[in-house]
Amino acid sequence: MTGELTVYINGTYVPESKAKISVFDHSFLYGDGVFEGIRVEDGGIFAFQEHLTRLQRSARFIGLDISSERIHIETAIIEVIKRNNLRNGYVRPIVTRGQGPMGITRMRELQGPTVLVIPQRHTDSPDLWQHGLAATVVSVRRNPPQCLDPRVKANQYLNNILALLEAWNAGSDVPVILDISGFVSECASENIFTVRDSIVHTPFVINSLDGITRRHVISICSQKFDVVECDMTPYDLYAADEIFAVGSVSLMRPITKIDGRVVGDGKPGPVTKRLFDMLRKKLISESHKVFQ
Ligand code: PMP
Repeated sequence: MTGELTVYINGTYVPESKAKISVFDHSFLYGDGVFEGIRVEDGGIFAFQEHLTRLQRSARFIGLDISSERIHIETAIIEVIKRNNLRNGYVRPIVTRGQGPMGITRMRELQGPTVLVIPQRHTDSPDLWQHGLAATVVSVRRNPPQCLDPRVKANQYLNNILALLEAWNAGSDVPVILDISGFVSECASENIFTVRDSIVHTPFVINSLDGITRRHVISICSQKFDVVECDMTPYDLYAADEIFAVGSVSLMRPITKIDGRVVGDGKPGPVTKRLFDMLRKKLISESHKVFQ
């Protein structure tokens, strides 16, 4: 489907070319806001309430109470999906502190919050399951909870962007980011898993986003494989039989090369493929249907 997408901005639905916010919005000026990335698959919304709860918690962390807006955001998401006939894609609700005078000391004068819902259609990468991705352990470290807790999905991704740029500059597709103690945290916009001797491992989520796809993968694993949440170092990546990344947009992506080393036999592994099939089934059977 082509043509302009419809975007929700503060109570109105507008074509994307008219979807504008003020240059005085605090998210534009300071990255002062929070967001979610929600997958739409086969006309249904996956983990809808979990995403809304995480959005509300991220907002609460930055001092915004959106409990009374939650129902409106929920309605706007459904409406954006319907208006765009978005059967397979992604929606991004964003809540910013709002617009007003420039300067963080004048924050109490803002007319906020600004609420947006932006849709996007899926783009497939057909080669992904043939070859998998190359990853690089980058020098940029994940911002620790003492600075800005990575469990908050905040409107500033410079940390992740710098990590991705570094991976691209090294000729890889994705970065693996370590926390400041040197333990594996996550990729730029995905959580990470390894498989060794058929046991699935993933880092704790103290120094990474508490990914919703990650949670569902852990619950699927527990039906079929042993799964362990633990501290991991680059050794665990180099010694892995399989590595994969998970997130709402990509769902699951096999990593077949890490820092130039081939993972397993260099092809997406059997556990990864099995989990991907199980995840897709879970996603479709549990989604909130917008289209029947
Ligand atoms: N880590 C980061 C930094 C992300 O941006 C995302 C995408 N939201 C994820 C992990 C995966 O989280 P989820 O499964 O909730 O999309």
